[in-house]
Amino acid sequence: MAQTVSAEASGGTAKPLRVVASFSILGDMVQVVGGPDIRLDVLVGPMQDGHGFEPSPRDARVLGAAQVLVINGLGFETWLPRLQEASGFAGLEVVASQGVHARMLNDGQEPDPHAWQDLRNGVQYVRNIAAGLAKADPAHASAYAARAQAYVQQLQQEDAQWRSALSAIPPSHRVLATSHDAFGYLGAAYDIRILSLVGISSQAEPSAKDMAALLQEIRTGHVRALFLEQGSMSAALKQIASEAGVSIGGTLYADTLSAKGGQAPSYLAMFRWNTQQLLTAFSEPAK
Ligand code: ZN
Repeated sequence: MAQTVSAEASGGTAKPLRVVASFSILGDMVQVVGGPDIRLDVLVGPMQDGHGFEPSPRDARVLGAAQVLVINGLGFETWLPRLQEASGFAGLEVVASQGVHARMLNDGQEPDPHAWQDLRNGVQYVRNIAAGLAKADPAHASAYAARAQAYVQQLQQEDAQWRSALSAIPPSHRVLATSHDAFGYLGAAYDIRILSLVGISSQAEPSAKDMAALLQEIRTGHVRALFLEQGSMSAALKQIASEAGVSIGGTLYADTLSAKGGQAPSYLAMFRWNTQQLLTAFSEPAK
């Protein structure tokens, strides 16, 4: 169910731009860029699964009243066409991933939607968001641009820090086993090999073959990091960990933020949390 993240007035008589973001990670980015000049609603809130989302009638009403809709694109929001139809949304749609170099899966048939897991793509998202907000609300264009520029600098600094920290780890130690294939962009960005139990949707059920293959990889000793994903496949991965006699490193955030005050309440905090967990696991002896 949609939740209103902010309802700050920008002062004076101007009403804040009504913006809807499709899921929590994107919502945080939109809020940073929009600041007090927008009123933001997020459809798939923190700790909810964007792949299996089922919009409510309230979501349709919220979207129907919005002036801007920001989505990830790359096939992430499979539930969106029906919601858009039901809502009568007639505003501006901004595709945050526009211009990102997409990883293609299934023999090039399907883009991997999790592009935000590479901070360099996050920079592109922020630029697209700022351009979209400015188009819908030209009066605040310079404010959107200024916040976006400061945010981009933060993302770029963060990217450089993690790149340097991870490059100190031998490449053969940089292997992550996790539940759904959500960290391909992270893996490509920092040269981490990713083994996942199922494909790109957290809704798929792992096959016995998938489970046996991952178990084999873990037993051969190449996996130093075995992580659960928030809200996804924990039972299957726990079973594998128990059969392989290895412990689970912790929980990574793939498609959602944590609640406020949690481990990953913002896009940057999520990235730091995930990457620090991996860095720690890669630095330990093989499991
Ligand atoms: Zn996902």
